[in-house]
Amino acid sequence: MNTKSELFPALDADLARRVLRNGLFESERLDPTALQMVSRLGLVTVTERPIVLCVYEDDPDFLERKDLDCPGEVFLEARRSRYACPECKQPINDIGRKTKFLKVDIALDLEGMKRYLRRVLKELGLAAETSSRKGRPYVGVTLARGKKVRVVLGDFDEAGDSEIGLVAALDPATGRGVPAPELELAGMLSVPAEEVSEQWRRAVALALVESDSARLLKLILGHYNDAELRDLCFKLGVPYDDLRGPGRKDKARELIAYMENRGRLALLVRQIQLERPKVDVAGILGA
Ligand SMILES: [Zn+2]
Repeated sequence: MNTKSELFPALDADLARRVLRNGLFESERLDPTALQMVSRLGLVTVTERPIVLCVYEDDPDFLERKDLDCPGEVFLEARRSRYACPECKQPINDIGRKTKFLKVDIALDLEGMKRYLRRVLKELGLAAETSSRKGRPYVGVTLARGKKVRVVLGDFDEAGDSEIGLVAALDPATGRGVPAPELELAGMLSVPAEEVSEQWRRAVALALVESDSARLLKLILGHYNDAELRDLCFKLGVPYDDLRGPGRKDKARELIAYMENRGRLALLVRQIQLERPKVDVAGILGA
């Protein structure tokens, strides 16, 4: 089957998904098509070096080899004519008639991965900047409403099984990884573009709900005393005495939850903006 990725028509979506999930090896053998794809995308740096094997049964010197179990590999170099096996030290004569193999070194290219991810995000209409924190490269994504989320590059093993693949999300508020399998690059490449976009936005929104509320809470606590908070609730039609907890902090947190549960958080933000014009509400729920 050869499904083209909607997002990148040049990509074979099934191949992309397989590579991103399983790597470049299929049952321990390097998959040349997969390697070609990731190196074309600039995700890896591939170095190929020609070698001959100390012992290879199709070679004319097979019967001259002393240790038929020798695993020796001999790298070929320009302008060199005399070779010996680095393992068993037996000289190799007539190296030109032996079968040449390519030894392939594959290294993840983090810069290339950043560039690629930026391109994916651009296709999704999301702005992105790249940086690194504690040695771990990430792409900072700015959503349409000015919200930010970090997408970490790399294996990210410590984030847990839910984040297999090249990307995982970090909640910028806590710095912790958030379970967001939807952010898997492989998944993004194998579903239609509109769905990808929707999935991405939803996952990012989920990751940010907590930080929005946390910012709001800090804001209310910093600018409203008990009486003013009571007054704010009255104006919003929220029964202050029904909000659980004894302290101002409990009441403020409950007010946010109350508005959020009724889909009226934006109203709360607007009211605060109205009453405290100097307060910075930028970025909260698109305000
Ligand atoms: Zn050898």
